[in-house]
Amino acid sequence: MSEEAASVDESVLRTDVVIIGAGPVGLFAAFEAGVLGLSCHIVDALEEVGGQCIELYPEKPIFDIPAVPVCTARQLVERLTEQCKPFAPPIHLAQRVMQVERQEQTKRWRVATDRGLVFDTAAIMLAAGNGAFVPQRVGLPEAQALEGRHVHYAVRKRAMFDDSRVVVAGGGDSALDWVLALRGHARHITLVHRRDAFRAAEATVQEVKRAAAAGELDIVIGTIAALNAPDGVLQSIGVKTIGGATAIEADHLIALYGLVADLGPIADWGIDVRAGRVAVDTSYYETSVPGIFAVGDIAVYPNKQKLILSGFHEASLALRKAYSYAYPDKKRVHVHSSYDATLSERILGSQAAEEVHS
Ligand SMILES: Cc1cc2nc3c(=O)[nH]c(=O)nc-3n(C[C@H](O)[C@H](O)[C@H](O)COP(=O)(O)OP(=O)(O)OC[C@H]3O[C@@H](n4cnc5c(N)ncnc54)[C@H](O)[C@@H]3O)c2cc1C
Repeated sequence: MSEEAASVDESVLRTDVVIIGAGPVGLFAAFEAGVLGLSCHIVDALEEVGGQCIELYPEKPIFDIPAVPVCTARQLVERLTEQCKPFAPPIHLAQRVMQVERQEQTKRWRVATDRGLVFDTAAIMLAAGNGAFVPQRVGLPEAQALEGRHVHYAVRKRAMFDDSRVVVAGGGDSALDWVLALRGHARHITLVHRRDAFRAAEATVQEVKRAAAAGELDIVIGTIAALNAPDGVLQSIGVKTIGGATAIEADHLIALYGLVADLGPIADWGIDVRAGRVAVDTSYYETSVPGIFAVGDIAVYPNKQKLILSGFHEASLALRKAYSYAYPDKKRVHVHSSYDATLSERILGSQAAEEVHS
């Protein structure tokens, strides 16, 4: 990994590559960056790495990763994380890259997240899949103004709900897990779900039903129809039920409807976006803007296959061109990893590397 040059503004993180997205392709890109001697930072909107593999199918087996006959999606992410560890790429989670701006003077990029991180980078690797995973929001106009105070899409501090009347909406694992976890803390808990069947683990569903039968919480089958919040203070939640309507007195609504992918600001960065994908030239998977690359599911080109192994290949080639932006005066000489003494030392340690290369 190259040494990071001192930045004029110390709050700005200077690096060779910013990788947007910590899905399987972003993680492999971080490893490849290390192999090529490039420093990188990874940013992801989610609270953990793994992209679709972790959000959509963590326990499903994958059979088409070369030399791995079978592993679950979670295991693949664990292995990719392990693989990039020798290079210790900083990973910044739970924040979304919002702005990308070309610095004409330095010919570098300024990249900013919604949590105030700013990078100064030679190249940008978009490994953003279908866009950032963001919570599916309550589809009521009054919900937005209450967000963060009375309407929540995640539980960051459980203590916030102590001694309150809480409505949890949703029927998956997160909703049911939080309903159970809030027992003994919230004053009153109601689970609202649109149907009488849940998508959570069977043991969790049974525990929720048992708790409801024991009077520890209520279950209401219906959909959230109104938030009654005079003067911006939530007082009750209107629920449309099969037979009619009801109102539940509440201080907080925690809506856990799952995540949706949203391309969001990427569409405003001046790159060629076609039907939600970023067009690239397949020589180096560079976008229409030199210095910004797109790899993995977000990239589109003729015959593109949305497969993890395609993303690995794309990242590997893109980083070779990214190198020329980071080090325009250096010529990178290719060495197979099996003969790369520096790489051996970094991954195996100096003694083992010496034995391998002696
Ligand atoms: C059910 C299912 C099964 C599958 N099975 C297989 C299989 O067997 N084999 C196979 O090869 N492929 C399979 N796939 C496809 C595979 O999962 C995808 O090809 C792969 O996840 C793409 O990886 P990626 O890193 O490009 O994007 P993703 O995995 O989508 O990760 C992108 C990441 O970027 C983040 N992000 C996006 N925009 C921003 C932003 N502005 N700021 C910060 N973060 C951002 C997102 O939050 C996300 O975490 C399957 C997919 C599904 C849904």
